[in-house]
Parts: sequence; C-alpha cells; structure tokens
Amino acid sequence: MPVSCGLCEKRAMLKRPKTGGALCKECFYNVFEAEVHQTITSASLFKRGETVAIAASGGKDSTVLAHLMKLLNERHDYGLTLFLLSVDEGITGYRDDSLETVKRNQQQYELPLKVVSYKELYGWTMDEIVRQIGLKNNCTFCGVFRRQALDRGAMMLGVDKIVTGHNADDVAETVIMNVLRGDIARLQRCTAIVTGTEGAIPRCKPFKYTYEKEIVMYAYFKKLDYFSTECIYSPNAYRGHARTYLKDLESIRSTSIIDIIHSGECMSVSVKKDVKMPTQGTCARCGYISSNELCKACVLLEGLNKGLPKLGIGKPHKARLALGLTNTTGTTSTSGSQRKEGCQSCSCRRHPYAVVNDTSGCKKDDGHSKDDPTATDSSIKQEELGSNFSTVGAVGDSAAACGCNSEVQKGPCASTVGVKALCGKDDRNTPCACKRGEAQTNKKALGNSRAVPDLDF
Ligand code: SF4
Ligand code: ZN
Repeated sequence: MPVSCGLCEKRAMLKRPKTGGALCKECFYNVFEAEVHQTITSASLFKRGETVAIAASGGKDSTVLAHLMKLLNERHDYGLTLFLLSVDEGITGYRDDSLETVKRNQQQYELPLKVVSYKELYGWTMDEIVRQIGLKNNCTFCGVFRRQALDRGAMMLGVDKIVTGHNADDVAETVIMNVLRGDIARLQRCTAIVTGTEGAIPRCKPFKYTYEKEIVMYAYFKKLDYFSTECIYSPNAYRGHARTYLKDLESIRSTSIIDIIHSGECMSVSVKKDVKMPTQGTCARCGYISSNELCKACVLLEGLNKGLPKLGIGKPHKARLALGLTNTTGTTSTSGSQRKEGCQSCSCRRHPYAVVNDTSGCKKDDGHSKDDPTATDSSIKQEELGSNFSTVGAVGDSAAACGCNSEVQKGPCASTVGVKALCGKDDRNTPCACKRGEAQTNKKALGNSRAVPDLDF
C-alpha cells in the first residue's frame, strides 16, 4: 500500500534522512527551504542592504546554496545583493570542469561571477604544488590557500559577507576530528555559524543544520546543474575516516549528526573561558590576518619557493625557526599584535592554545619558571628537535662551521637537500660546508632516532 506524505494527502516520494518522515516532493522542498530560512533568520546572518558572496565550486552544496540564496532572498525580501565567487585551484580534470558548471550557474541564476586563481594569487597551481610535494599534504596547501583566496576575492568584490556551503555533516566531521586530536579549543570556531568576525570578512554557514543527504536529494529532485566528480587529489585521509565513522553512526541513528554538532557547541561553551586563543594580528608580508608574524599561506609559499615544500607542514614553531623568525629569547617578534602564547611558566611556547598556567605539555615542567636561566633558545630547540639530537653534539654549535644560521648544522655535509634554505647557499646542487651528512650518518647509527631534523616538518 502506498505511503502518504506526512504533511499532506499526496503519495510520499521519499523518506527524509534527517527525521525519517515520509514526504512528497513538494512538502520536502517546503520544509527544506523553510529550515534554511529559519537558520538564516534565527542566527541573524544578514542585514538588509548587505552584499554577499556565495562561495561557488560547482558542487552540490554550493549549487544548492546559490539556488536557495537567490530564492529566499526574493521570497522573503532579505534585501541582499548576491555574487558568485569561485576559486580556481588549478587542478586539471577537476576544477576546470567544475568551473564550467559555475559559469552555467551564473547564467541560470543571473548572478555576477568572480573567479580568483591560485596561479594569479600565489604563482602556483595545485597541479604544480602536487608535483612538488606529492599527494600527502596537498590538501593542507589547498585549504590554506583557498581560505585566503576566498577572502581576497571577497575583498575585490567589496562584499560584507561570504556564505559557504558547509553542511551539518561537514561540521559534525570537524567536531569529531577536533575531539580525536584533543583540540577542544577549535570546537568554538568549527561549530560557529559565523566565523571570521575578528578581522577578515565574516563567513556564514546557512547549511549548518542541513544534512548532506537532503542537499543531494534537493539537488536531484530539482534537477539542479551541479558537478559531482571528486577532486583527483582527494582524499584527505583523516577527514575520510571521520566521514566514514559519521556515516556509520548516521545509519544507526539519524540524529547523530545534529547531536554531535550540539555536543561540540556545548563543549566549546564550557572550555572557552579557560583557553587562551592566539591574538590576531596581520601578516608582515602580505597583510592577511594572522596570529603569527607570517601567515600560514606565506610560510607555505616560502617553502615552495625555496624548494622546501614541507616547511609549513606540522608545527608552526619549527617553520618559524627555519625561517629565522624567532629571536634569541625564544619569543616571537610580532607585527600588529603583542602575541603571548604557550606555556606560561617559561618561554618554551608549547601549547599554541595553552590553558593558562598549565605546564603539562612542557617538557621543562620540573619547577622551571619564566626566569629560569636554563630556558635558553638552544635548550628549547633541543627539546623541539628530539632528545636524541644531543647525541650528535650539534645543538648549540650553530654557524661555527658553515656560517649558516641553523643550529642543526656543523662541518661538511653530503646532503644537498634543503641546503639553500637552511644555510643560505644558492646552489642546491652543491653541498654546503656543514656537518649535516655526518649527522645523518649518526642518525643511521642511532636507528630510529630523529638525530637530525629531516626537514619533514
Ligand atoms: Fe584541494 Fe584537497 Fe579539496 Fe582537492 S581534495 S580541492 S587538493 S583540498
Ligand atoms: Zn601572509
């Protein structure tokens, strides 16, 4: 016997993933659109007269977002001026095709389109970056560059807000990832419906409570024109695990997604008073918002341009050391902000999001204090470089042999990798005069130890 729609007398066409209720197509459209409108109005995402850039990739989320923003703006008279804003990462066989979809969307929704590219902003396409770094950390580069590219595109358009197609599944995945990493401090940002209010152009997520499956259903039944191919450089392995885990949970209990978001919101409220977040300043090189002297994009670019693409991957203090951005007291010079971070008992700068007075992550918590004369730069570096480093006797012997500024080098070296960036030699095919090669020999002798920092930051 046919099942009736739970809201009208018509025949049901689908089972709603979010609630399990049977609905006809028209009622599904109505509840879907009404819920997004409710999200927008209850969070007061926009003010009348604002201009808004819709981050458009041509995928299902952003296509449905563009469709709905136009529809709701007209239906409820939000009074917004809308633009489409796309980022061309330079991924052949993926982004070039999806941008064609965005261009068709531009015609279909009659919205002006702005495209910014990695090549014009950074001088590198993702294809070129992947040729340099391989497929391991490519999404780190892409994510950092895209975030900044969107802001730059939005500034060129002069908009007040950016809306992105991040849906409930994306938010829940990010909550899971942050919890699994023990990075509770980031929950606040990842669960916020508006981010970037502290300096950059605010970003809003009208789909924060919208299930991915319902977005797909809406796009499918409405016959929207979207691009569904995955990026050729996917997957982001860690997020992929969180996604699989979330889908498993959803198949057992459909409310899991909203429940995880709600849990993330509650946890972020409970930690926010205790957690010291970095102070926002501006990047000394490009002027983009940053809590360090150089923004993440500039550090990554520096690594790419110097032939050290892994420079900005991993712990920021190691990149700062390699870039010579740390002074002899171990404090970081700041631009536009007085930054104070990390362990509050010494200057070791552990815990970028440290709980005030908590020294638990500092390896020097044996009664040391800020004034501890042993908390010198070299002892900090020794900690950061690993306990076995001292066995090759190189720490503290900086510049003595080769004149470079790195404390990790001494005497002649057989390695040419990274020589340019670490010791300032221009010819990367000519070994420098440091003892890096000797140290590497020691590293082999020490088995698995990180006797020498291997540039794999
Ligand atoms: Fe960029 Fe990675 Fe996404 Fe591809 S999968 S578009 S490389 S972030
Ligand atoms: Zn920068």
